[in-house]
Amino acid sequence: MNGLYTSINKSMRNIVISTGAGISAESGVPTFRDADGLWTKYDPMVVSHIDGWNASPSKVIEFKNELRRQFAALDPQPNAAHLALTRLQNEWTDGTVSIITQNIDGLHAKAGSVALEIHGTAIKKFCMKCNDITGYDADIDVNDPCVCGEVSSIRPLTVMFGEMPHHLDKVEALLNDCHIFVAIGTSLNVRPASMFASIALSRGADTWLINKDVPQITFEYNHTIYGNASVEVPRWVDMMLAS
Ligand code: NAD
Repeated sequence: MNGLYTSINKSMRNIVISTGAGISAESGVPTFRDADGLWTKYDPMVVSHIDGWNASPSKVIEFKNELRRQFAALDPQPNAAHLALTRLQNEWTDGTVSIITQNIDGLHAKAGSVALEIHGTAIKKFCMKCNDITGYDADIDVNDPCVCGEVSSIRPLTVMFGEMPHHLDKVEALLNDCHIFVAIGTSLNVRPASMFASIALSRGADTWLINKDVPQITFEYNHTIYGNASVEVPRWVDMMLAS
């Protein structure tokens, strides 16, 4: 925290918020790249890459089922950071407030926000053959046929590495018309989300980063705030609403 909070230009209007796993860490959802994150235990190229799926759907489904069970047992709830962003969406009157999330945990919606889930959602599954979408509230058996008759085609509605994220046309439009951009709780390792700040900056936006740790590259951010999202995001929202 520092004097940066005094530097807001009141002519700015549309806010674009990009969130990553760090915003949900204090809700108990593990991140992937922190010291105790999931990628220290699993190889993402096997369990979360489209090539891994094509080579062995059962390994992917085994991992996803385990995640689903952990998630169901955890029953995570939105924390103060998610709730603050909902407040910003409800109370900001100077333009739009759009949330783009890499997260698949549904916590923005649970907090009452509207968010574009560019990596999909872990609470639904779909058939890769017919695109039938249903709730993902019990383990998938890789041998279960879909209603369309296809076998080994049902998987969670989450985007794997090597696949195109969702809603990119909407994201591009939002970034093109963005005056204030903030990235929250992301290691900035995963594209395309890692590129959003530089696009927003090139369109003249004021760019902010709120994260626990210092990422390797931060030059596209005009302002950086390092700390826990549950503390720093409500503070940042208060500052925005007061500006
Ligand atoms: P990441 O795991 O690569 O990085 C997490 C970042 O969050 C780190 O930089 C860390 O410093 C920061 N962080 C940790 N705790 C924090 C806190 N309390 N407050 C603020 N920041 C904190 O996450 P990523 O960049 O979002 O990329 C991970 C990918 O994995 C995404 O594509 C996402 O889809 C997926 N993922 C999603 C979830 C989820 O839905 N909650 C969880 C893990 C991974």
